[in-house]
Amino acid sequence: MTRLTGAADGSSTLTAVSGRRLRELVARRTGDTQLAHDAEVVAHVLPFKVNSYVTDELVDWSAAPDDPLYRLLFPHRDMLDPADFTRVERALRESPADLPSLVAAVRARLNPHPGDQIALNTPRGDGGWGLQHKYASTLLVFPRQGQTCHSYCAYCFRWAQFTGAGETKLAVAGPDTMTRYLERHPEISDVILTGGDPLVMRTPLLAQYIHPLLEPRHARITSIRIGTKAPAFWPHRFTEGPDADDLLRLLEKVVAAGRHLALMLHLSHPRELDTAPAQRALARLRSTGAVLRAQAPAIRHVNDSAGTWADLWTRQVRCGIVPYYLFVERDTGSQRYFALPLSRVLDIHQRAIRQVSGLARTVRGPVMSTSSGKVVIDGTVHLADTPAFAMRFLQARDPDLVGRPFHAVYDDTATWWDELRPYAPQDHRFFQRTDFFQRTDNTLSGEPR
Ligand SMILES: *Cc1c(COP(=O)(O)O)cnc(C)c1O
Ligand code: SF4
Repeated sequence: MTRLTGAADGSSTLTAVSGRRLRELVARRTGDTQLAHDAEVVAHVLPFKVNSYVTDELVDWSAAPDDPLYRLLFPHRDMLDPADFTRVERALRESPADLPSLVAAVRARLNPHPGDQIALNTPRGDGGWGLQHKYASTLLVFPRQGQTCHSYCAYCFRWAQFTGAGETKLAVAGPDTMTRYLERHPEISDVILTGGDPLVMRTPLLAQYIHPLLEPRHARITSIRIGTKAPAFWPHRFTEGPDADDLLRLLEKVVAAGRHLALMLHLSHPRELDTAPAQRALARLRSTGAVLRAQAPAIRHVNDSAGTWADLWTRQVRCGIVPYYLFVERDTGSQRYFALPLSRVLDIHQRAIRQVSGLARTVRGPVMSTSSGKVVIDGTVHLADTPAFAMRFLQARDPDLVGRPFHAVYDDTATWWDELRPYAPQDHRFFQRTDFFQRTDNTLSGEPR
């Protein structure tokens, strides 16, 4: 086991597992040596990380591999194309020297940059990459030291960043890159700190990003969001030691400064909310005055039933968390393992919504975060006797598209936006690539592109 460097709490119980250790862990806890071997093979391609909290308190080993939390965290042979799995397995056994180029080729086939993230969204700052300014009012910030997580979701659409391939990193050099950008863009009212998980950073480092936003010169920043999975993967972040206390004081300071502070919690399964540490963490977070909101994708093997989502939202409301987005799994990584047809996600969402009260119906979904914008499927309708998906943009590069109903030809098997087709001529404008509207700002580095 290796200690996580730069981890928020420095506790010796926070450990990362890889390679042979992963095989030993799975073999020891499940007794299934084939499952363990397969996990090790796949972990050469897809990033993997767990800590002692998720292995000891979240995963139900007696139900592995079918346990939803095991599915969420552990590599499985079905995540790779069978031929690719066999190639990697053989290279490991017979020709380890071939492994790096083979692994690079397999990764390249897994669409490492969904939604044209690198090409379309990333203004080049003088410190490097790491701001996304796609929607006028909102700036996404990827703090450099927050580009990892306490454990990894096997479905993560940011997986390419975690594999260490240099050009795939989306990370700002530091807070100055962020503040300089904000000074040039008075239209921005919301800053979202994201990752990875910004709460892997120790509190003083996080404060370097947050304190400037509270200064009078940034008074037009009315909302600060922090995206995190820490309550699910490392609730001790909020409860153990002086750094946890400092974090709570920092959050209180944001609220006291009159800003809307939202913790955007990534919650995939009701069990993540069940443990005593998670309950303690949420109670402390509520006490800061932050608004807690929750979002996650619907994922095969993990939360692909209406009952699971109804349960998840109901428990969120009970914990003071506002359900926000139900996402569709992006077209990347182990999509062959986790993806569900859009029609199925729609069905899950609709049946789940019917089981909960209005307080949980704040959730919007199913939502696809595409290169054109965030698009929701409202339902299936029958137009001229043929079925269609009724859709709307919740956010779009072209603001004029937001909120207008449009239709796509109903498709039972489509799993992503780019497989959908416009239903009628008037729908075509919603399906156009909108590179034209991208917001880029190359002048930070004075470099023409
Ligand atoms: C989802 C998202 C946002 C936030 O959108 P809201 O509608 O405000 O939740 C901002 N920027 C990007 C790039 C996003 O994908
Ligand atoms: S918490 Fe988010 S960024 Fe981290 S591994 Fe999971 S999906 Fe990826």
